[in-house]
Amino acid sequence: MIEMSKEKKAMTKDRLIGMQVIDSDGNDAGTVQDIAFTVGKLGMTLIVETKKGENREVQWEEIQAAGDFVILKPSAAQTTGPQVMQPQQAQQPVCPTCKGPLSYIQQYQRWYCYKCQKYV
Ligand SMILES: [Zn+2]
Repeated sequence: MIEMSKEKKAMTKDRLIGMQVIDSDGNDAGTVQDIAFTVGKLGMTLIVETKKGENREVQWEEIQAAGDFVILKPSAAQTTGPQVMQPQQAQQPVCPTCKGPLSYIQQYQRWYCYKCQKYV
């Protein structure tokens, strides 16, 4: 079993990078690759590489504990944050031009790239 420490240790970037990420079910969710800070927002975002080699962002609020591992909160608690509304699809398509994430515009039922400012 993983021992969860409640004490607040200073977590340095060097300690976090390379740390294993465990989801609330105890599954291996990947490894911390990098840390991103957002100006004006508390905490930070972990860039996690999954076993499939995909990168995902884990918000600081999604983290339950960090010690020898990063332990994520149950996914039900991950619905917070002013994220762009996404349709009920498993994976989000990316822009063929800039490879950026596309946003689904419900009104026109089309995918839109905010970077290129065009529909795909
Ligand atoms: Zn684009």
